[in-house]
Amino acid sequence: MSAQTISISGKKISIPTGLFINNEFVESLSKKTFGVENPATGEEVLTIQEGQPEDVDVAVKVATKAFNSPAWKDIAADERGRLLNRLADIMEQNKEELIAIEMLDTGKTYKQAAGLDFPGSVGCLRYFAGWAGKIVGQTSTNIPGTFSYTRREPIGVCGQIIPWNFPLLMFVWKIAPALVTGNTIVIKSSETTPLSALKMCEYIIEAGLPAGTVNLISGFGKTVGAAIANHMGIGKVAFTGSTATGRTIMKAAASSNLKKVTLELGGKGPNVVFPDADIKKAVEWSVFGLDMNMGQTCHAGTRIYVHEDIYDDFITAFTERFKSIRVGDNFDNTTDQGPQNSKMQYDRIMNYIQSGKEEGATLHLGGHSVGKKGYFIEPTIFTDVKPTMKIVQEEIFGPVVVIAKFKTEEDVIELANDSSYGLAAGIFTNDYERAMRVTAALQAGTLWVNFYNVLHWSLPFGGYKESGIGRECGEAALENYTEVKTVMFNMGMPLPDIV
Ligand code: NAD
Repeated sequence: MSAQTISISGKKISIPTGLFINNEFVESLSKKTFGVENPATGEEVLTIQEGQPEDVDVAVKVATKAFNSPAWKDIAADERGRLLNRLADIMEQNKEELIAIEMLDTGKTYKQAAGLDFPGSVGCLRYFAGWAGKIVGQTSTNIPGTFSYTRREPIGVCGQIIPWNFPLLMFVWKIAPALVTGNTIVIKSSETTPLSALKMCEYIIEAGLPAGTVNLISGFGKTVGAAIANHMGIGKVAFTGSTATGRTIMKAAASSNLKKVTLELGGKGPNVVFPDADIKKAVEWSVFGLDMNMGQTCHAGTRIYVHEDIYDDFITAFTERFKSIRVGDNFDNTTDQGPQNSKMQYDRIMNYIQSGKEEGATLHLGGHSVGKKGYFIEPTIFTDVKPTMKIVQEEIFGPVVVIAKFKTEEDVIELANDSSYGLAAGIFTNDYERAMRVTAALQAGTLWVNFYNVLHWSLPFGGYKESGIGRECGEAALENYTEVKTVMFNMGMPLPDIV
């Protein structure tokens, strides 16, 4: 199956276009294809194979065979770590190529793709490679006359469905813990950002991962995604995306084979600035907390609550800083904020801006699109908001923030927790007793004190409430991908006199 060569910023880069099954790029059984566009221009850049449920069936068969094959099942645990490290090496050798692909496909700036997505992906692979050989069970002699031990075993074929906001990073977050624990994979990339995953599959062959351990079916949610979630041959599904789709996946998992489910869903992060905070630092981190990745992060600090005593100073400084964000061509190194990822996201964000105006919030800054082509939106601030407004309750996933005043610690805890989401939250204060009190009271999976939007592959990440189920990254991720088997030996225990 052929690859296509495209020109990215003057560089010729070849990208495989097939479905990736059994370490080969193949045509979809239906021969369907779909176009991939550059969000900075709205123009199609190449056409790739579009999977259907029957392609998922083939991939699951291949992944099942690979799971049971000695080439994967019987290799030393350390060897799995070596393969992941080898994949990380190949990524590093091809760093600029991978970054360029990610920029073209997503609209990310170089600063974003090279400063966060790329090192985050390589770091995550190496971190999980380091777990190889360290995933062990326990022993017990608690019952007299017995000896018991536990084994951590892989689940089998894992289905993984990833979004478009961090395509490369999410690909690695998903495959690394699944592979180091000995599973095999059928993964679906997002239909708007399939390219870096395709390139990674080329590197997977080069790294020497046995055929069938990773299979990538590019395509759409309602066909490929639904087929993965419903498949009887898949033992676990891991999903990152919207809460609405997360519900659909959980229902499908429940009504098929009760496959295990982990969900990393939406957020509406509160970011609280107390009166004793360093305002300058709070402004810098709050801008980063919102605008990183064009506001397209589930853990973004989208609701900023500022104490009334410092509100005027904060909003003046925040507005100045927000105004200085340069929106434009993501391949121009002076740009801070590129386009939103797709026309659909652009429309969603513009609809939220309209709803904020209609519901009576004050449009303090921005609110318009930028340029004549592509999906660019001005950094936007709403003030005078009410807790019930859609722009305060719902995930906008763009460069739009709401800023509100609060009076007391109790009030702001209530406001911050007044959300169906619970993914991440931040507070700015120099009072460490307050910091410990408030972080304990806020309902979120990740809490930042005096910074925002910093994640690390070694720390668990996931949501309270409707932001998800389970944790990715860190040691916690390994639990998602292993079954615990208890094995008990009779070492002389007498038969109980019960029956
Ligand atoms: P989405 O949930 O529809 O898509 C995410 C992934 O799920 C994609 O790969 C998609 O193809 C797949 N998918 C869609 N429908 C499916 C189905 N029925 N069964 C199985 N898989 C399915 O998200 P979206 O429409 O791309 O974005 C909508 C909103 O979701 C965003 O505006 C944002 O609020 C939120 N979102 C959150 C994250 C996150 O990191 N938590 C990521 C992307 C989007």
